[in-house]
Amino acid sequence: MTASPRLSRAAPSPRAARAPHRLVQRLRPVPLALALLLAHGPHAIAAAAGDAAAKAEPAARATSQAPAAAPPGEAADLDRLRQRLAEKLGATSPAPGAQPGLVRLTTRPEAAPAGVATPAVPPVRKPAVLAAQAPLRAVAPPPRRGPWSYGGESGPAFWAELDPAFALCAKGRRQSPIDIRGGVAVDLEPIRFDYRPSAFAVFDDGHTILARIAPGNTIEVGARRFELRQLHFHHPAEERIEGRGFDMSLHLVHEDAQGRLAVLALLLQRGDEPQEMVQRVWNDLPLEKGVEQPASRPLDPAALLPAERGYATYMGSLTSPPCSEDVLWMVMRQPLSVTQAQIDVFTHLYPMNARPLQSAAGRLIKRSP
Ligand SMILES: [Zn+2]
Repeated sequence: MTASPRLSRAAPSPRAARAPHRLVQRLRPVPLALALLLAHGPHAIAAAAGDAAAKAEPAARATSQAPAAAPPGEAADLDRLRQRLAEKLGATSPAPGAQPGLVRLTTRPEAAPAGVATPAVPPVRKPAVLAAQAPLRAVAPPPRRGPWSYGGESGPAFWAELDPAFALCAKGRRQSPIDIRGGVAVDLEPIRFDYRPSAFAVFDDGHTILARIAPGNTIEVGARRFELRQLHFHHPAEERIEGRGFDMSLHLVHEDAQGRLAVLALLLQRGDEPQEMVQRVWNDLPLEKGVEQPASRPLDPAALLPAERGYATYMGSLTSPPCSEDVLWMVMRQPLSVTQAQIDVFTHLYPMNARPLQSAAGRLIKRSP
């Protein structure tokens, strides 16, 4: 491993007067570990420990090369300073809270103290700080932890790395959403809906807006009966039909007595007609995340269903962590109309909360003719 150019800042050089940020100054004592942490983050501490031996020698040698022109008192001060610097850099573990150092590593340009001569030191390496940090990260990547999201380092591509409980997000073989293409056209039994106007409460869980529905709404399909637990929204729609995307989707999550899940997906497309039940959810949006807002009027899930009840069905997963499988999906083919203003309400809170499409390979999709 080559010496970290980062540490070259600690070694005074003839160019120090022209590049004052490299000066070692007697300033407020700052523990070395703290200074590195502030300047470069936690990786710099490990780098400093590893490279300390390489840098200690030149720093010590610099002591004997101080120009004679320096005033005796100040030169002696600098010698002591450099000696302490060398000792510090020679330490194998600059523990936080250890003896306060006289070294301050700073990226802020600061003026050289008047009259202080800068001693000659061996040539230092180019300060390619960013280039040096990249391989360090590659050697010891920080563990990915924290809440999942729809973008960046906590986005869908990294969900499985965030928590061992999310492993299926990467390793699952029956994941959702999918592009519902082809499929076998069969006489799918109609879904038997037993929905009624119900009390509900609206909740912003940090990933979507969801409405928890009071018990008493059920569907029957495949000789199984599922109870509606909650419904929530995605923008844009997660699922596609024959490659076609939609503005939003609404997932009605049901559970049977054995805890198995069935999700009814409704597609929402921008149109002239507002959707009344969607509006009821919007009307009772909580002002704060994580706080449930009881709704003033009931919600009738039956009023969310399209006139045409043709659907496609397949076995998939939750579309968010932990990406649990064995979820029965039913995707209604006819989209519902929502207005642009209704879409805007949701996108104001969640501009993008759709998981990318997953492979449907090897799965049977059945659909109404
Ligand atoms: Zn969903």
